Amino acid sequence: MTANFDPAGYQPAPALLAGRVIAITGAGDGIGRAVALAAAAHGAEVVLVGRTVKKLEAVHYEITQRGGPEASIAPLDLEKALAQDYDTLAAALMERYGRLDGLVHNAAELGVLSPIDHYDMAAWCRVLHVNLTAAFALTQVLLPALRASADASVIYTSSGVGRRGRAFWGAYAVSKFGIEGLSQVLADELSGTANVRVNALNPGATRTRMRRKAFPGEDAAKLVEPAGITGSYLWLLGPGSRGVTGQSLDCQRQQPAPAG
Ligand code: NDP
Repeated sequence: MTANFDPAGYQPAPALLAGRVIAITGAGDGIGRAVALAAAAHGAEVVLVGRTVKKLEAVHYEITQRGGPEASIAPLDLEKALAQDYDTLAAALMERYGRLDGLVHNAAELGVLSPIDHYDMAAWCRVLHVNLTAAFALTQVLLPALRASADASVIYTSSGVGRRGRAFWGAYAVSKFGIEGLSQVLADELSGTANVRVNALNPGATRTRMRRKAFPGEDAAKLVEPAGITGSYLWLLGPGSRGVTGQSLDCQRQQPAPAG
């Protein structure tokens, strides 16, 4: 199936995600927060996953204030979480909802910008763990819940430096290459499972805390706000993208039509 999707012209229907349960990691800030608010505004019951509970509570409050469906909060620090923490989250989610219709892997950390000669080993391990290994672990425990859905979508948040390496981006870039790989491997494994699609999505330059840290000298006013790029996430989470799987897509430019 082709993904002939133009993010700029996309107008999601108001009830696009009605009745869907969608979990988002790093939902307390930046792009994750914007995706959570947008998904709830389009009818989804969102599960706010993240490490800073105060931020998650603020998003939960905002969803309630806007009259969105009841959200839930799942505290999880992806740097420190142990197998038991993932199991607990998956069990609680299954008990409350009985399935999962969308999983947005968004949380990540930038680490340091440094040449490979000097890249700090501890920072390397932490970034690979938070950005890649934790996404694998969360995917694994939530696969039964995704399989229990009639129409589920997994989104791995990628980056331009995860498709073409760039000097000094070290572990972050490598973790995003890994995310693209994880997305493709899982999509291939699930290709016979019509109800679960898996894709990688690159937000492109977006005005967030991470972007500020990476480009401190840039004029942030020229960047799109997180709320301005949520259309591609909504489309991938909604019924219109059914059958689109194993693709690497971008939020901020016209999608070419992939073959197959
Ligand atoms: P932010 O720094 O604004 O948000 C990152 C989110 O990840 C925060 O909610 C943060 O939680 C969470 N997070 C970080 N570490 C952990 C952890 N150990 N456990 C749980 N949650 C954690 O960044 P963005 O919104 O910009 O980034 C979102 C995604 O988009 C990332 O995957 C990033 O790589 C990607 N991206 C962003 C681009 C941009 O220009 N902004 C461009 C390309 C890709 P907390 O608030 O508690 O710190």
